[in-house]
Amino acid sequence: MNIIDVIHQKRDGKELDSSQIQWVIESYCQDKIPDYQMSALGMAIFLNGMSNEETIYLTESMLHSGIILQWSTGSPVVDKHSTGGIGDKTSLILAPLLACCGFRVPMISGRGLGPTGGTLDKLEAISGFRTDLDEHEMQHIVETVGCVITGATPRIAPADRKLYALRDVTGIVASVPLITASILSKKLAENIDSLVLDVKYGSGSFMQSTDNARTLAHSLCSVGKHFGLNTAALITNMDQPLGQMIGNAAEVIESFDVLKGTGPRDVRELTLSLGAELVVAADRSRTFDEAQKQLASYLDDGSAYERFQRMILAQGGTLPLPKETLSSRELLIPHAGWIKHINCHHFGQAITALGGGRSKIGDTIDHAVGIEMLVRIGDYVENNQPWCRVWYRSKETLLKAQHLLTNTILLDCQRPPTANPTPLIFERINTGSEKES
Ligand code: URA
Repeated sequence: MNIIDVIHQKRDGKELDSSQIQWVIESYCQDKIPDYQMSALGMAIFLNGMSNEETIYLTESMLHSGIILQWSTGSPVVDKHSTGGIGDKTSLILAPLLACCGFRVPMISGRGLGPTGGTLDKLEAISGFRTDLDEHEMQHIVETVGCVITGATPRIAPADRKLYALRDVTGIVASVPLITASILSKKLAENIDSLVLDVKYGSGSFMQSTDNARTLAHSLCSVGKHFGLNTAALITNMDQPLGQMIGNAAEVIESFDVLKGTGPRDVRELTLSLGAELVVAADRSRTFDEAQKQLASYLDDGSAYERFQRMILAQGGTLPLPKETLSSRELLIPHAGWIKHINCHHFGQAITALGGGRSKIGDTIDHAVGIEMLVRIGDYVENNQPWCRVWYRSKETLLKAQHLLTNTILLDCQRPPTANPTPLIFERINTGSEKES
């Protein structure tokens, strides 16, 4: 086989067959196809898309580039994945919460790059917390504590590790077939029974419209089901930060609040809704309502928080979080009105400017900086009312963040027509689709 022929075929909009896709992935992993040719093929896929069959072959090849975890018989093995959003800390809450239900949760998570934060970065705000467990350590913690949150090991879907790094620097992350194969190759390597996906749309996510988010959700559910994985997706709104806290340590602290039965309502609601999908899929409850009540009881009686503490301890972490007193500055509303729109992606840029996010792979991050949201869409605000609080380490980074946050809030002089213009959960998808993406 010849890589130039494969690139031409995809460039001309023709489908690749399974042997071609398998050959490309194997050759790329063995460094027989260089990055420049792989990026040309990646761009052809980005521009022309892939059929459902091609996406299945790609997922399968990436999955088999590494190992597949094996589990003893016992309780269901489940996981959740989010496409990422501002202030999205639900993984931190959901993993221990699902463990309280008796599930085993081997949650492989990622780091933040660009505007949305990564679960691993958030957890590393806890001193000593290890996110580099090997498969043996990972499985031991799952079997003893019930849940683990760690990075993909070098033996889990290594093709994705290599390809994702390439996609990131060549501007081809936001492609439905490439995202589908990337996410599912890792989740299938975990060898789970059920998966729930949080597919986000809006100004704080990389899928801006509900249509794009729906296409991605259908692709993920359809390919997941092809591999016998019980897959459901919620399409959720990311037009404003989830919860009040944005930033690594700040989000861990807010997660603690939700795990103790308090914290922001939206974070709790989304976590319970995602969890209920898995509880119902495992036949542990007949209805979503019943499942949510069961899950909520583990937040309210402290058992989810206790489980999270056990997981932190098992992964080498120590509590409480390191105490750091940073300076803070409140940003003020320029004139009275109703909050109509929030340019949510500005928060990601501001966190990066403050030092709390990465602009390139390998950047070190400052876990202590953060932003607290003081308003929501639909609120009436007075002139000079504080709308957010920024924790910063240096005046220079504060000025950059302030500049990036200048036009974040859009005000309207008229009251919005409905009290809740953007429902948090927009749509639920749990059927496969034959639709091409
Ligand atoms: N998360 C992943 O793991 N892969 C992608 O391609 C995008 C989000």
